[in-house]
Amino acid sequence: MAGIKELDDSIDGYVKDIIEMASEVLSIPAIAPESDGDGEMEKAKCVARIASSWGFDRIEYYNSPDPRVAAKERPNLLLTLKGSDPARPPIWIFSHIDVVPPGDLNKWSADPWKLRVEGDRMIARGVEDNGQGLFASMFAAKALLESGTRPRRDVKLFLVADEEVGSAKGMVYLIKQHRELFGDGDLYVVPDAGDPDGAMIEVAEKSIMWVKMRTFGKQVHASVPSKGVNANLAAMRFLVSLYDELHERYPDMDDMYDHPISSFEPTKKEANVPNVNTIPGEDVQYIDCRIMPAYDPAEVLEFIRMRALEFGESAGVTFEFCTVQMEKAAPPTPADHPLVGMLKDAVMEVYGTEAKPVGIGGGTCAAILRRAGLPSVVWGRLEDTAHMPDESALLSNYLGDAKVFLRLFLS
Ligand SMILES: [Zn+2]
Repeated sequence: MAGIKELDDSIDGYVKDIIEMASEVLSIPAIAPESDGDGEMEKAKCVARIASSWGFDRIEYYNSPDPRVAAKERPNLLLTLKGSDPARPPIWIFSHIDVVPPGDLNKWSADPWKLRVEGDRMIARGVEDNGQGLFASMFAAKALLESGTRPRRDVKLFLVADEEVGSAKGMVYLIKQHRELFGDGDLYVVPDAGDPDGAMIEVAEKSIMWVKMRTFGKQVHASVPSKGVNANLAAMRFLVSLYDELHERYPDMDDMYDHPISSFEPTKKEANVPNVNTIPGEDVQYIDCRIMPAYDPAEVLEFIRMRALEFGESAGVTFEFCTVQMEKAAPPTPADHPLVGMLKDAVMEVYGTEAKPVGIGGGTCAAILRRAGLPSVVWGRLEDTAHMPDESALLSNYLGDAKVFLRLFLS
């Protein structure tokens, strides 16, 4: 048994081990077949071999079949550390094992699969996304294992496949085929987004709806507008009135979000006529909608269609709508969920940062968990270099995040 101070000290002593393990693990490209890659299984086996040498209580695979990869399976690797108090619900940390391709190699200052260390900064593909969550959670467990200290609750580190292209073979598969693993009262952390202070505990997301709007009028010479119908003018008039109406109709507000209300922004506009002296008979415009979870995006689209019909009748134009993207928000994790409080306390103790629950874009494994009725939070202290050339992460953040996870394991 070791106290928190001793355990923090042993985490601080892991710098060499972290660099060594990260060099080995991150040298294995683990890229989805959709991106013409492979390698998740090799990477998972490498991690499993290291984990077994540390003495985890259980190491199990929940693989999903996939004929497209060499192993014919996509790995979902579960590392378990038994807790001392069976009455406490387990804590789960989901890190994804896959990475995105490096992209244009000329934009990298060196080989993306060869970890470089420059002072506090490590550079390699996957070192932040999602290496930081993966290594920080594992090294928190290592500190416990080495000192013979049991966590108070079961610690479940799940290394999942396929996050970067939608999680069908990872998180979605696990929820579909192995839902019984996950208890309703368990604690779920997804260390896959955050800011450089570690101040954001993501608990909610908005729905995203991108609408393409085509407006049809009648093309004519610009000197005789009464002989035609200006589709560009009608589209602009409609959008201005629609903008106000949407904000009035969907007023739900929550300061937890960076932009605290729904947004309905007319954005992209396709080119219409190439010359100045023709009134366009057709116009194409897009609206980027970020809708508060209180509303159903399909209902918002219906309202837009209904208003367009009325407007079109009076203006002599017709409209056509389709959605380019439609992603319905999962129900938010309550901001007063016990896990949020535990994480706040841990972040304050380790980093001296006042973290608070926020709503953002979403798109991580947490959204899939929330949709399955499992409240989850997304947190990490990250440099935000994911998917970039020269992706990097700070060793000090690896150590700090490990100490934060350690506190969650011990509470
Ligand atoms: Zn990620």
